[in-house]
Amino acid sequence: MKIAIAGSGALGCGFGYMMQKGGNEVTLLDFWEDHIQAIRENGLSITVNGKEDNITIPVGKPDEFNETFETVFIFTKSMGLRHMLEAIKHLLDENTKVVCLLNGLGHANTISKYVPKKNIIMGTTVWTGGLDAPGKTHFMGEGPVEVQNSDENEEAAARQVVQMMADCGLNGVYSSNVHFTTWRKACVNGTMNALCSLLDCNIKELFETAQIDQLNHNIVSEFSRVAETEGVQLDVEETINYLKTVAEKVGGHYPSMHQDLKNKRPTEIDFLNGVVAKESEINGFEAPYSKQITQLIHAKEDILGIKR
Ligand code: NAD
Repeated sequence: MKIAIAGSGALGCGFGYMMQKGGNEVTLLDFWEDHIQAIRENGLSITVNGKEDNITIPVGKPDEFNETFETVFIFTKSMGLRHMLEAIKHLLDENTKVVCLLNGLGHANTISKYVPKKNIIMGTTVWTGGLDAPGKTHFMGEGPVEVQNSDENEEAAARQVVQMMADCGLNGVYSSNVHFTTWRKACVNGTMNALCSLLDCNIKELFETAQIDQLNHNIVSEFSRVAETEGVQLDVEETINYLKTVAEKVGGHYPSMHQDLKNKRPTEIDFLNGVVAKESEINGFEAPYSKQITQLIHAKEDILGIKR
């Protein structure tokens, strides 16, 4: 498959590496000049599940290319999605499938401004990654990468992407309800990411506090109410139990939002708790916890001098 990775940070490099190793023709697209330069000069250095490797892989800014791709995987941060879609318009033809595995809510709507519904494939991933330096990343996981076609007539195309990922060791899985999976993942991020960032602790420490059950209940109840307005049934108790199983698995990990603040980078809060706060107002009810958490994270960004 001829694939472009639009946004080649931690996850983009990880997926790009696995897909190239699996026999696909992969190009990394990014805007970060030092990163592009480092990959061009020294190859992409990557550690996957503890195993180090280095590969030569095409990389550049979107405007350096003028061919079209069969499939584009988007791996920007949520706030970079629109800018990336603008930048890659010329790399898409009428059949290019665009796969989005970003955390956060509302992305299908943004993508639909640039890509016909028949070509949009949405999903979630539980693989994780990090950037150690320009051109040097790490990538970990084994869990499912779940995707589903946005247009009901395009299941075969989504299944082809699933098969390609499975062939590359990425554990591709066809989801029959990606909307639900996306909301449930948003609950993971809307609780653990936001709370660990505000409390400056890891997930294990957060789940050992006496307050965690009440905090999770407050946040998940608000997410569940907004999800319902989109036709997604998110049972509060079941979701809280799911959070506990995730927390047990990841233990002493600091979530990505905590790392973003540590590295003085803007967070994705507006696409998580921020969406819930905003959508609640639009639908005529309140989500005070989500609103407060969004404001607190923005206040933290301001204190750290992070530009949004
Ligand atoms: P990332 O921050 O590593 O990369 C995103 C973009 O930011 C890339 O284009 C990258 O080149 C650029 N970037 C990163 N550092 C930069 C710097 N110092 N200067 C200039 N540009 C820089 O993002 P990610 O962790 O790969 O996440 C992508 C999406 O996947 C997000 O929505 C995230 O929430 C989601 N996600 C991430 C993980 C994870 O473990 N990293 C897991 C699941 C989902």
